[in-house]
Parts: sequence; structure tokens; C-alpha cells
Amino acid sequence: MSKSVSANNKPMLNAYPDSLGGTLKDITEFLSKDETKDTFSSFYILPSLYHTDLDRGFSVIDYGLENSLATKEDLDKLRSMNIDLKLDFILNHASVQSPQFQDLVKNGEKSVYKDFFINWNKFWEGKGKLTEEGYIQPDEEYIKDMFFRKPGLPILMVTMPDGKKVPYWNTFYQEVKETPEGLKYLGQMDLNIKSDLVWDFYDDTLHKISDYGASIVRLDAFAYAPKEPGEKNFLNEPGTWDLLSKVRELADKYSLTLLPEIHASYSEKIYETIADKGYMTYDFFLPGLIIDAFENKYGDTIVKWANELIDKKIRTVNMLGCHDGIPLLDLKGLISEEQIQSLIDTVVSRGGYVKDLHGAKNMYYQVNATYYSALGEDDKKMLAARALQLFMPGKPQVWYLDLLAGKNDHEAVKAAGAGGHKEINRTNYSKEMIEKALEKDVVKRQLELLRFRNEFEAFSFDSEIVASAQDKKIMIGWSKGEYSTTLMLNLENYDFVIVAKDKDRERII
Ligand code: BGC
Repeated sequence: MSKSVSANNKPMLNAYPDSLGGTLKDITEFLSKDETKDTFSSFYILPSLYHTDLDRGFSVIDYGLENSLATKEDLDKLRSMNIDLKLDFILNHASVQSPQFQDLVKNGEKSVYKDFFINWNKFWEGKGKLTEEGYIQPDEEYIKDMFFRKPGLPILMVTMPDGKKVPYWNTFYQEVKETPEGLKYLGQMDLNIKSDLVWDFYDDTLHKISDYGASIVRLDAFAYAPKEPGEKNFLNEPGTWDLLSKVRELADKYSLTLLPEIHASYSEKIYETIADKGYMTYDFFLPGLIIDAFENKYGDTIVKWANELIDKKIRTVNMLGCHDGIPLLDLKGLISEEQIQSLIDTVVSRGGYVKDLHGAKNMYYQVNATYYSALGEDDKKMLAARALQLFMPGKPQVWYLDLLAGKNDHEAVKAAGAGGHKEINRTNYSKEMIEKALEKDVVKRQLELLRFRNEFEAFSFDSEIVASAQDKKIMIGWSKGEYSTTLMLNLENYDFVIVAKDKDRERII
């Protein structure tokens, strides 16, 4: 495997800095409790760790620490607990409120940052028609292969110092509010990777993230960044791979392992291309595959997937839930369209929401629910799912709400208004709520399994792994030197047994 993957394969907690008690300090205390200590070796802290203003962290103003949530001392504390970090590098966009965009809005054409973002009309000059609203509508030949995340063109009209409105490329969220002082914009403005200043900014950012203690850097939505008229605006080739290797040159200076984030259907094999190029890659298939296997009581597809990871030596980060939904688009080509539809129906019947790509038929993207609710709030299924995740090849990432068996939060969705569906699975827990959750068997048992996964020596990226499925049973075994362990899981009733052996003894976990 490539030199660029140096991360360990031990469990990783995943949360916002304010998810567990209110601040990152509270999370360090949570991780020091008798019940939780020694269960995690890594922590993926979501980007509201930085100064941000939209999309719960994915609209970065600057990469300074948001001191109301996190301090340098908290990061030092995590380091002293031998917990390394996975942090986001959001290279496709920056907030309207970032100093660079603010300079552009203030100084217009005179701004040093005038090419830092993507002026839509300059980008499409000569390739479409100027509309009455002041933006170019690119000709159909350019638009037909584009992948847009929202209805309409991905632009935000921004008022310049001379009063002119200029469209800027804005792939993700935006919010324009009327205030007594005039229009207030929020938005994730796409960066222009052809600008040298953007590359200086990338270098500074990676340096900062490494100083915070990052060992893994998640490359958020990186495949939207390379843009060229006439090319796709998502995963254009070879632009996307050129971008990755340039970022990697910078990351190597700071000994960072890159984890590119991309959602694409299984049949496109993008995960394999990423792994072949020597990066870690996400296993976005597992969350859906587990629900599919549990509902239909068959283990063949999961085992086929596990064996593919083993044979191709692909190093993944896997998960059950996360801050986004349960991925659906990714499953195309791995399970049938009917199975995907039945998975959606199951999760929706249990209170989840389906997110399609602005109404296009069969262009579903993800289904939003807590994983516990997606499994029908069934403790046995939750534990079986966790055991399976911990035995799949890869580094297991654990969403705090799954660990605490959190349920769908419909109130939060209502309160968030339009587009707030992801809030169903992002409830902040107070210290009292945490204490109560820690009393539940489904939580205690997950912690026990995590401690075993974190400490037992059979688990490592270079262990031997075998996986098989037979008669509605899944078996996965890991061995390294004199240590070995096997999970046997029965899909009829979700019972499972874990046996662990070392040179002196054999025990049931
Ligand atoms: C993150 C999302 C975010 C988007 C834009 C994604 O890949 O996971 O939560 O909205 O990037 O930054």
C-alpha cells in the first residue's frame, strides 16, 4: 500500500465540537470517563471547530479555532490522551464572510483576491447568452453533462462596489437575507484553483491543520473544484487527479494522510481509483449494505464487498451514521434498484427523509435518519451492526449519536426550516442526556466492543482478514501473529459471538 497512508486502523469518534456537553473540553471529559476511556484512538472533529457560518461548519470564514467551542488546550489534551485527529480541509469553497471574499466585495476589480473566486460570467465568456438578470446562461452543449446540487445554476449574485451585480460560482449552500442595513449574503463560494493565491491559502491551511494535531485530512467535496468550460463540473478527468496530486505534495510536507471525500456509484469504481493512487478512501457502501442485509437476511453482498477490500488491499474509513445521510447513490451497481428503493422505503417508514437530487427520478442521494432509528430502534440490530462494522476491513468511524442510540429528531428538522433535513441526526447532547444514555445496555455494550476493537492486537491494517457468508450467517476473522479473533453473526435473529485468542487464552467478548 502507498506511502501516503500512515494512519492506524483503530476506532475514531465523530462529532461536532458542541455535540457532547457543549464544548470540545466537555468531549475531552467525556472521553476520560471510566465508561469511555480507551475506546477511541482518533477523533474526527467536524469543521465548526473553525470560524464558520453556514452548513454547520462547511462554510469556513477562516481556519482559526472557534474559541467559544474549542481551544488549543483542548487539542493538547486530546494529544496527551493519544487521540489523533481527522480534520476537514474544505478546498472547494470558502465563506462569503471570509477575508478574501470580503476584500473582493469591498474592492471589486482592484482586489488582490479578484481571481480567488470564480466569476461566472468571465468563466463562461463567449460560451452562452447573457440573460436579463445579468448572468450568462451557458449553451446546452456545456451544460448537458453538469451535475448540479440544487435547482437552477450554481451562482450567487453579488453586489460590487460600483453597484453592479456579478454572479459568482456557488456549488453548495447560500442564504440571502434582507436586513435593515441591506442584503446580507451567506454562501460557500467556490475557489478558483487556477489562482496562485489559492495555492498559498491551501498551503497555509494544511500547515495550520497539521499544527492542530491532524493525522488524517478529509478533502471535503474535492471533486467539484477543478472546472473547465466543456468539461464536467464534478470529477472531470484528469483535472481531479491532478488537483489531488498537487494537494498531496503539500500534505506530504506536513506528514498528513489524505482522505478524499466523494460520492459516486459503486459501478464507477472511483473508490478503487482513489485507492490505486495511494489514498485512503471512504466506505460509503457499508451503511446501506448493513440495513439491506438485515432486512433481507442475507450476507453475501457485504461479504463480497469485504473480500474485494481484502483482495485489493484498499484502506478505508467506514461508518454507520455520520453528519450527512445514509448514502444511496453510492449503492448503484452494488445492489439492485429495487433493493435501493426498498431500503429507502424501510428507512422512510421508520421516520427518515429521502433526499433526491432536486426531484429527478432515480437520482436519489441519501436518506436522512439516525442509524438507530433506521434500524427500527432495535437494540439487537444496533449491536449487530456495530459488531459488523468493527470487523469490516477499515478504520471504523463512530457517529456519537449512534453510540448513544439517538433517535430521529423531528423537532430539530422543523426548527431548521427548508433544507433542514440533516438536523434529524445532529442533536446536541447535554451532560445529563449523556449520563442517561450511558446507563443503557445498548450503549454499554457498544463501548465494550469498541474497547476490544481499540486494544486487541489482531486488528491492524496489515492483519490477515477472512470473510464468508453461509446459511444466513456472516463470519469475519482477523489474525496477526499469535492474536486472532472471529465474529459470527446470525442474520435470522441478530445474535452474534466474538471469540478472541492469544497465546495464553481464548475468550468470548
Ligand atoms: C459535506 C457536507 C457539506 C458539503 C459542502 C460535503 O461533502 O459532507 O456536509 O454540505 O460537503 O461542504
